[in-house]
Amino acid sequence: MQNHKENLIRKKEQILQTGVLDDHTIDFYCDLFQFHQDTVSSITGSGEPPIRVHVQADKSMVRDFGVKKSSMESLQQALDALVKIIARYNPGLDAGRCAGILAADNTSVEKIISIILTKDSGALLKLAETSKTGFEEFAFIVINWLKPFFISARELLNTPVQNEDNMNLCPFCGSYPDMGFIDPEKEGKRLLRCSLCENIWEFKRIACAVCGTEDHDSLEVFTDEDNKRYRIEACHACGGYLKTVKLNKFEAVDDCDLSIENIISASMDAGAMKKGFKRS
Ligand SMILES: [Zn+2]
Ligand SMILES: [Zn+2]
Repeated sequence: MQNHKENLIRKKEQILQTGVLDDHTIDFYCDLFQFHQDTVSSITGSGEPPIRVHVQADKSMVRDFGVKKSSMESLQQALDALVKIIARYNPGLDAGRCAGILAADNTSVEKIISIILTKDSGALLKLAETSKTGFEEFAFIVINWLKPFFISARELLNTPVQNEDNMNLCPFCGSYPDMGFIDPEKEGKRLLRCSLCENIWEFKRIACAVCGTEDHDSLEVFTDEDNKRYRIEACHACGGYLKTVKLNKFEAVDDCDLSIENIISASMDAGAMKKGFKRS
């Protein structure tokens, strides 16, 4: 995985200048990215992933996974570490209340993974309510806890899952993309990045990354006149949007860290939401 913390520190001055984040929030993201990195390293180093995922060679997306009772220690440790980071920076959010529900035993972990992979927002909302946590906060905790497990599962499997259907969903885990790239050097090739496992895959140039529609009349692009690097690709059919980075002429995909670009371009999200579009 990319070293998001290092890339964030490199862009710190630029971020502070734009005013999207203050010092305190940058420190929070640094600790969060470090947590992801440490968890991925420890899982890939052990060679025994706590979440075992199976992908059939002829099918894309994780359809089968399992969590053994003996894996609970590392899952709990990771959740405790995340809860501590959140408590340090957001004292108003009691993430510890969620921990008991999420990692009570291996069945509860399997249940929450299934909810995330099937995008069952109703079930997620119920769990958030049970833990007396806001939906957004609860989803943030779950995604950031599971993220390193899915990144390492993908890295350990080491078999690129083909995207033969040219899907808008991650060919590995089936999650929505969180951002996209457009590479002008490769005839405007469009790539998407998974919001959960950080997989990158190629997608059609003109299609909604949320619902997949190719109806031109439903698709609209918004750009910021002052900063043409970012664009919002919005869809009137589903009401969703994807924020996309247009790479510079000599910029390689690997040199562009979307976790950081996402932070820098936060004002674009505010603009898209003001127009009534939803982030997937
Ligand atoms: Zn994925
Ligand atoms: Zn759409």
